[in-house]
Amino acid sequence: MYHHVKKLMYTVRVGTPDPRFGRMLLEQFGGANGELAAAMQYSIQGLNCDDPARKDLLMDIGTEELSHLEVIGTLARLHLKPTNVTRSAAEADPLIAICGGGGVNLFNSQGNPWTADYLKISGQIEVDLRNNIAAEARAKIVYERLIDFTDDAGSKDALQFLMTREITHMKAFMKALDSLGKGALEIGARPPTPGVVDQYFNDSTGEGDAGKDLRGPWNQGDGWEFVEAPAFKDLMDASGAR
Ligand code: MN
Ligand code: MN
Repeated sequence: MYHHVKKLMYTVRVGTPDPRFGRMLLEQFGGANGELAAAMQYSIQGLNCDDPARKDLLMDIGTEELSHLEVIGTLARLHLKPTNVTRSAAEADPLIAICGGGGVNLFNSQGNPWTADYLKISGQIEVDLRNNIAAEARAKIVYERLIDFTDDAGSKDALQFLMTREITHMKAFMKALDSLGKGALEIGARPPTPGVVDQYFNDSTGEGDAGKDLRGPWNQGDGWEFVEAPAFKDLMDASGAR
């Protein structure tokens, strides 16, 4: 059951409206990493979740994201409202100006309509939680970039709040993932094939302007078997080359 309370989760103030910045803000309203996507992803994952504790987490955060949607929508609306008034402002976002009369709609910053294709809903809790950790990380960096593109103090303040909450959510999802007690590489029920799982294929080879082979914990130590250029293996075997 949903209920709406007639106040914003965070106060939104805008000094001078900036329609071009308002259009950028739509990325977090109706975009791939935006608040509607977050709200729907977590809420629908929650519908599918049979684990009562993690279902509660998903519904709590999914619902908070709807409150974020209201905040970012209000902020975008304040910046885009003048598109209804002057030709120069309308040029900042013709779609919002002409079809929306200066009101926001569920588009991203390029006018692409919101789509459920943005959502990552797997029906497997450890996979969903990883999707959510990544989604929060993406939302955080989009907010950071938005903050860097405005000088309006009120806008920066609201965006800083929204950005901060994404890290809070990221922490909650990480803790929920840890608390499942599964190993970091344990996904689903079926184990991977031993041996193959530890092979690192050196598939980008040679040395040139585009770089050279480098080693790190992603391909050496900790059980890794470094397999040299599998695509060329037959050729190298035939020539005796290494
Ligand atoms: Mn959010
Ligand atoms: Mn979030």
